[in-house]
Amino acid sequence: MRIADSGEQGSPASSAQGPQFNLDCSDLKPARILQKHKYHSVLERRRGEHPRKKPLRVLKFGGTSVADTACIGRVADIIRAELRESNVVAVISAMSGVTNKLVAAAKASEAGDRKSVGRIFEELRAQHEAVANSLIHSATTRKRVARTMKDVFREGDSLCRGTILLRELTPRALDSISSLGERLSAPLVAAALAERGVASRAIDATELVVTDSSHGAAEPLMDLTRERCKARIRPLLLQETVPVVTGFIGATAEGVVTTLGRNGSDYSATILGAALDADEVVIWSDVDGVLTVDPRLVTGVSTIPEISYREAAELAYFGAKVLHPKTLRPVMKSGTPIWIRNTFAPEGRGTKITRSGCPDGGRVKALTAISDIAMITVGGSGIVGARDVLSRTFKTTAAVQADVLLVLQSSSQNDICFVVPSATAKRTIEALRHEFAKDLAHEETEHITLNQDVAIVAIVGEKVHDTPGIAARTFCALSRDNVNIIAIAQGSSESNISFLVPQKDMRAALIATHREFLNGSHSEVSSATGV
Ligand code: ADP
Ligand code: ASP
Ligand code: MG
Repeated sequence: MRIADSGEQGSPASSAQGPQFNLDCSDLKPARILQKHKYHSVLERRRGEHPRKKPLRVLKFGGTSVADTACIGRVADIIRAELRESNVVAVISAMSGVTNKLVAAAKASEAGDRKSVGRIFEELRAQHEAVANSLIHSATTRKRVARTMKDVFREGDSLCRGTILLRELTPRALDSISSLGERLSAPLVAAALAERGVASRAIDATELVVTDSSHGAAEPLMDLTRERCKARIRPLLLQETVPVVTGFIGATAEGVVTTLGRNGSDYSATILGAALDADEVVIWSDVDGVLTVDPRLVTGVSTIPEISYREAAELAYFGAKVLHPKTLRPVMKSGTPIWIRNTFAPEGRGTKITRSGCPDGGRVKALTAISDIAMITVGGSGIVGARDVLSRTFKTTAAVQADVLLVLQSSSQNDICFVVPSATAKRTIEALRHEFAKDLAHEETEHITLNQDVAIVAIVGEKVHDTPGIAARTFCALSRDNVNIIAIAQGSSESNISFLVPQKDMRAALIATHREFLNGSHSEVSSATGV
């Protein structure tokens, strides 16, 4: 969306009934400048000239990028610099570690542990107040932020009290409690902008992102979201006010708070990007871009200059934390470019994620691994040859909402083996035992088994699957370093070959395959700088 002052105004926000904590810092823009802006627009219209059109960029800043006062100052500087050439909508995560603490408080409430809940909220209050005090010099802004914080903490307090009383943590209450971090950080970023003379407004995404009611993994309803975003955001951009939106959260059409899933602010940014027809979405993090492999696991990694949506999605799906797995979905149709850049080294170019992603003929682009998984095997003579085993197995995984990351089947149909995230393993295995109870009643040994000592390693690159030799080179590299492959899955996706290894060998597998395919693949060598 290109924003030009056409005189057209969006209709007033049809706000959700959810809680609103808007911090209006736009009054910090001197009235004279507003007048001048309007005057120029009138002159331009009279002369029949087109006002200069600026592109719209959605800039998302993750938890490490807003971790303390200095970080928030850096974020405000980046936004201010960006405003020279574009209109900006900022999307902000909770300060690093805050969502974890809120989830811990929610769980402690369920356990009736008042003391821990009190301690966590005291820590959070002290942390945010300290940042507000060192960041904000204007007395009026400080007062406003203090009021907003008080409201947020009061709400957290009553949510936890309710949970303690009921000794039950509903998914709805968990979402409301874990949403508080973003509602504390966005006003701080808006205030930092105001301190720099940039008009800004903190906006609760419950007013913008309309979702279904799948608490903990809510999906946006894009038509309603688009309507809300245009009505609420466009007028602010026309007034040259930077909307500073909470990431991670949304609300149902009825105004009930939801979250998009852990690490979900990346997804918030592309949802807003798509809803506003943004020209680009920039995800600012603590790394120089998408790297050839997680820098916490392998040294000598490089920054990838450009990759495709599909490659980035495969990396995210198989555990590369730099992007939430659903991030690419909202922009795939429009082809909006996504950038990953480093808040701590903003001079770097970063990685551009595009539809075609600079194809280079089946080369391996990056590696990733995921260890928080469990392998479940369904087998046994009681079910050998039964034609409906596959359908019953996956109906069961669907019923318990377990994401199946990888599937393998022996040719004799004796065993079906699949991998799910650890968090869903227990309920999946219980449901399968229930489903196949009759078939396996006479078996002496257990035939629905769980193995949690595994990891998936994925080799990602457009068309790697069609390129002869990649699997062979992988086997050789792993055998040289004594890594045993439990299973390999090649074929379901053109841009990924994934294999299972013992969890203890995951790092060795990444080191071996990185050496084989990616050493020195790009000139720019990088590291995570913000941690
Ligand atoms: P943010 O707080 O900005 O959302 P995250 O911690 O969610 O940041 O994601 C950034 C982290 O992702 C990096 O610090 C890095 O350790 C990790 N990561 C994993 N795989 C990759 C990869 N291939 N490229 C870049 N970073 C990666
Ligand atoms: N604050 C949320 C989390 O920690 C969302 C995010 O940071 O993207 O999961
Ligand atoms: Mg993240």
